Amino acid sequence: MNKVYLDNASTTAVHPLVIEEMTKVMSHDYGNPSSTHSYGRNAKSILELSRKSIAKQFNVSAQEIIFTSCGTEANNWILRSAVVDLKVKRIITSKIEHHAVLETVLALQKEYSIQVDFVAVKPNGEIDLTNLVELLAQDVKTLVSLMHVNNEIGTVLDLERVGVICREHNVLFHSDTVQSIGKKTIDLQVVSADFIVASAHKFHGPKGVGFAFIRKNSGLQPLFHGGEQEKGLRPGTEALHQIAGMAKALTISYDNLEQDEKHISNLRTYLLKQLDQELEGYQINGSKEGFYTMLNVQLPFTNDKTAMILFHLDMQGIAVSRGSACQSGSIRPSHVLEQMLSVEDLKKPSLRISFSQFNTKNDVDLLIAALKKI
Ligand code: PLP
Repeated sequence: MNKVYLDNASTTAVHPLVIEEMTKVMSHDYGNPSSTHSYGRNAKSILELSRKSIAKQFNVSAQEIIFTSCGTEANNWILRSAVVDLKVKRIITSKIEHHAVLETVLALQKEYSIQVDFVAVKPNGEIDLTNLVELLAQDVKTLVSLMHVNNEIGTVLDLERVGVICREHNVLFHSDTVQSIGKKTIDLQVVSADFIVASAHKFHGPKGVGFAFIRKNSGLQPLFHGGEQEKGLRPGTEALHQIAGMAKALTISYDNLEQDEKHISNLRTYLLKQLDQELEGYQINGSKEGFYTMLNVQLPFTNDKTAMILFHLDMQGIAVSRGSACQSGSIRPSHVLEQMLSVEDLKKPSLRISFSQFNTKNDVDLLIAALKKI
């Protein structure tokens, strides 16, 4: 059976060159970066070269990149420390954030009684920036947390514009950039975000490693205690093979960005064309002009076919996602689609189809053929 992986917003295949790099580090460079002997110094050098190469991609200094275990940890750390240490009293976010942000914000609201406001989301899933400006009229110590690319529907936030709005209102700006890092250039001298986060497994790196960009002099304090690693901001022996793999994956992603973006965009356009021809009555959740890596498609199927659709596709070797990965398999509608769709449309099956450079037109053809059989 031909297997088709179209769930790259959940996770991606590890790039063969990344595996090679990680294998080398695990086999030969096993010193602890905190040790002072030659093994340790060698490990430290790999660690710092990785940090430098990541920092360069975003036009920031190496000390502003802090390694974490994943995007979820980075989001939790930033939001919590903003409240606990930076004395933020109010968080403005949206109801279509990833749960790593949304649930953290709600937990902080419960624990610290901070004010939480949700910026309006337009019917096409874009953030209403006029409403953001209105919300910022209050004079309270505030952090704005808005994701760059939505992981379910692919809507894109204008990071530069939101950065300017936040500066003008003298508030902190955090963006969950997990879906865009490695897939879009971000110049942090142009975008005035205070904090952004990344997760390596979304750009063909290993799982279990990510990083946070923490702008210099932000005052953020560590979430964990017990070591001096990462300048005391993230104690714990560094997962050197993961970090080196992540740095390699990011370099490969940005070195090939232009051609990969073109290839993936063409696949997305091809999918839209095939849907037009073969699945009359489908709708796009979000916008056809959304991020080039994904499409969220509402299928014109009757309710009785909805429950089994992922199962049917899976039986034919096709991996896609309903809503976001953490929700597939659950019967609750996606919290993102809930903000945008009518009750009727929510009952219809929606699929998130997400691409990588390893996909081909044949993958799209197999998906369409499988959908037609349902
Ligand atoms: N934020 C977004 C937008 C995501 O898509 C994900 C992964 O699904 C995360 C955060 C969590 O990242 P990680 O898997 O590294 O914890």
